[in-house]
Amino acid sequence: MNTQRKTIRDLQDIKGARLFIRVDYNVPVENGAITDDTRIRASLATLEHLRGAGARLILASHLGRPKKGPAPEFSLKPVAARLSELLKTPVAMAPDCIGAEVQKLAGELKDGGVLLLENVRFHKEEEANDPAFAKKLIDDSGATIFVNDAFGTAHRAHASTEGVGKHVKVRVAGLLMEKELRYLGMALSAPERPFVAVLGGAKVSDKIQVIESLLPRVDALLIGGGMAYTFFKAQGKNIGKSLVEEDKVDLARTLLDNAKGKIRLPEDHVVAAAFKADADKKTLSVSEIPDGWMGLDIGPATQQAYAREVTGAKIVLWNGPMGVFEMEPFAQGTLAVARAMAECQGTTIVGGGDSVAAVTQMGLADQISHVSTGGGASLEFLAGDELPGVACLDAQ
Ligand code: AMP
Repeated sequence: MNTQRKTIRDLQDIKGARLFIRVDYNVPVENGAITDDTRIRASLATLEHLRGAGARLILASHLGRPKKGPAPEFSLKPVAARLSELLKTPVAMAPDCIGAEVQKLAGELKDGGVLLLENVRFHKEEEANDPAFAKKLIDDSGATIFVNDAFGTAHRAHASTEGVGKHVKVRVAGLLMEKELRYLGMALSAPERPFVAVLGGAKVSDKIQVIESLLPRVDALLIGGGMAYTFFKAQGKNIGKSLVEEDKVDLARTLLDNAKGKIRLPEDHVVAAAFKADADKKTLSVSEIPDGWMGLDIGPATQQAYAREVTGAKIVLWNGPMGVFEMEPFAQGTLAVARAMAECQGTTIVGGGDSVAAVTQMGLADQISHVSTGGGASLEFLAGDELPGVACLDAQ
């Protein structure tokens, strides 16, 4: 799969041109106030680059999941105010994402000017990728170029992430999207070795395709979290009341048989009498588990072994926690992997909401080469699927 795409760096002579830019401003809002503006800040480099070239910017995003049309709690208005502060320039806010007012505001934009459209999901045609709606998004904004900088929604073929591409002649990636494609693309092309992948989380079923796609490319695939127990069951081990996907046991056995020894499973684990932070707990070898108990984290020997693999790698990709990290007594495995990622001198890539949360909470995010912004999108990308919001962009 060719994931090389043209980017805004390839655009020339865009002074005065109108650009339709899909950004990810799906930020948390409480009582009208933004509680975390990371995603707005993350868009600034792309916007500054384009403003510097004299382009006129029309920004589109979704926020939340409004199901019944326009709703004030899902309005992007607070984002326009925050963006204006960060860019130190006025940001016009449109009352809708299509219509006469959008035409007027987009028409009034000066070179370097910025207009934010209202939540595209106020129209059900957005998620339906309705062609007429996509055409209207472009026609009403007067855009001649589509910039997609919203990697987190690139696995969805929606009107503003994919459909609009059909109504312009130039379609390019923004700088955030460029970074995602560069780093996640590395995981698929594995230019350096050893290449180690660490996969955790609750279910094997969510990550089967990723495991199948990565196995031929990696030197080692370290498995932790609840998904390890389906593999243990496939090996005939007693797993007590640990999480298991019975219908995936045969598949886990096939994966182990075909893995040529690359799949590593925990050697010890922290087991508990109940799924509670204050439950009785013990650290045991994985061949031991008292009846009725469950495995909720990897143990210290596994932490050390996995940390050694991670720190010695030239490229490491990590997705999914090693245990029930939301409960402090079962967070040590996930924290150990996060620390090892930060220590590794090679290229480190973290994807998926929970592992991203772990490195961020520990203040280690700036010691990771790339922290992916798209959980679902990064998994689909790593599974080798073509993402509609990437496929629609012009190839290099
Ligand atoms: P995922 O969304 O598949 O990445 O799974 C993340 C969830 O897996 C987190 O909420 C963890 O609490 C959970 N998890 C990790 N390890 C285990 C385990 N051993 N048993 C049950 N749940 C787990």
